[in-house]
Amino acid sequence: MGDCIFCKIIYKKIPSQPVYEDEQAMAIEDRNPQAPVHLLVIPKRHIVNLFDADGAAQIGALLLLLPRLAREKNLADFRTVINSGAGAGQSVFHLHLHLLGGRPMHWPPG
Ligand code: AMP
Ligand code: ZN
Repeated sequence: MGDCIFCKIIYKKIPSQPVYEDEQAMAIEDRNPQAPVHLLVIPKRHIVNLFDADGAAQIGALLLLLPRLAREKNLADFRTVINSGAGAGQSVFHLHLHLLGGRPMHWPPG
């Protein structure tokens, strides 16, 4: 686990209020939301980012959680962001999928 903040959340060392949890993954509210809905879908297994990912089934399961959560939040559309590497904007080095919605999204994302 080391100093990984998301491992601490997953293993309940830090209290959180998950919006979703199963054996493989957890979803939480981002503490610094960039949209009215901003969730993070986090695999329970510590994977640094997509460069570290190997299982298609696991990544597929994480992706399929996004539309499910979006429907629960009554979103007609949503954006998914997965930052892999510091230069791409990754600040927590435990894989997570951002789900953003509830406002118009623009492109390019910056
Ligand atoms: P990234 O920059 O893609 O690595 O995203 C990390 C995200 O995690 C940021 O949007 C942070 O606001 C969010 N974050 C960091 N620590 C926490 C925490 N303890 N609880 C909820 N969200 C967090
Ligand atoms: Zn971790």
